[in-house]
Amino acid sequence: MAAGIGQACSAATPEEIERGAVAVGKLPRRPLGRDGREVSVLIGASTWSADAVQAGIRCGVNYWHKSEDWGSNVPRAILKDRDAHYCQVCVDRVRGNHERGQIDEEAHYQFVKSALEQTGLRYFDDMQLHFGYHHVAEQKSNRGFVRAFERLKKEGLVRHLCLSQHHYAENSRVEAGQNAAEILTAVVQDGVFEHAQFMYSYGETEPMKELVSLARRNGFGTIAMKTTRGAGRMKNDAEFMKQFPADTSPHQALARWLTTMTELDAAVVQITSLSEFVDTFSGAGRPVRSADAQALERMTAYADREVCRLCNECASHCQLGIPIADILRYERYAQDYGEDLRARALYALLDRQGDSCIACGNCLPHCKQQLEIPRKLAAAHQILRIKG
Ligand code: SF4
Ligand code: SF4
Repeated sequence: MAAGIGQACSAATPEEIERGAVAVGKLPRRPLGRDGREVSVLIGASTWSADAVQAGIRCGVNYWHKSEDWGSNVPRAILKDRDAHYCQVCVDRVRGNHERGQIDEEAHYQFVKSALEQTGLRYFDDMQLHFGYHHVAEQKSNRGFVRAFERLKKEGLVRHLCLSQHHYAENSRVEAGQNAAEILTAVVQDGVFEHAQFMYSYGETEPMKELVSLARRNGFGTIAMKTTRGAGRMKNDAEFMKQFPADTSPHQALARWLTTMTELDAAVVQITSLSEFVDTFSGAGRPVRSADAQALERMTAYADREVCRLCNECASHCQLGIPIADILRYERYAQDYGEDLRARALYALLDRQGDSCIACGNCLPHCKQQLEIPRKLAAAHQILRIKG
């Protein structure tokens, strides 16, 4: 675990932070699942710059995603008022990546203990299985992660059990993989986990909308992730922005929609700087106006044309086993989140990269979005390869 990964230094003055916090105002909170803990409708993350963290705390952000990534640099304000914050630890499979790695009770237990030692947080509120299960059968039969949680809970080191769930259907590297909606439906019915994070954005599919309703009816908490779906690159596309409705922005329209027009409990919207915090969070809990509705329509059309949904439906149709969704997920990190270093580091670990694509076209009929996958892979390779 790298200490303080992704957390930039505070660049803004105290006055600028105060002005930003005033512009955003107090964020609404909602219960996260049946336990009734109230969390801000948009949550925070350890990737935020220090000034954004300070402004966020003033506005009432009280749930922090991937807090283990702060390492020994946990913001002082959180350490000082530890019980006012919910800090989540994200735990990966071991001996491999999210596809090949394994669930291992003892390794997860030790990982959390070591993350606590490094961060000094004393306990983690939420212990999250990162990337989730491959299929329902694994969720039902492999209880290693749950057992690690129960041991840590007995010691007072963790409090709530959750998972983030990705899609594994059609993934040739994961035998019998299923999609997130199928797996999460089983998780909700199982009742052991309390809440989940999953990909959810504008133009969402029906199965994911049904899942969110099911979760709400069952008191199961929901946090949307990967919500921006191309919003970062839209902002940098001068032609697109020329036509964009005045008095809103891609991130603000998104925040308004996520927090008022869906049944989600909360959402993560990727931001890094104070200005992005102000732009995005000033939409939280505020109604979608006509300018926002128009903006969302344009954003959906743009994203459907350009941005992979990471659904994985194409994967098993590539005879070369190119991890299309992983490559296009890293492209998102670089293009939409400004996380070039992280994107390149992850890309370098892939055993097959975008330049392996021979443009045979086998995958194309399986992409409901009709993305030009070979073109996207070639472009992603140019962005993500480490230039020698
Ligand atoms: S076009 Fe490229 S990614 Fe698609 S199946 Fe052929 S080699 Fe694989
Ligand atoms: S390229 Fe298309 S089918 Fe493949 S993961 Fe992306 S959206 Fe899904």
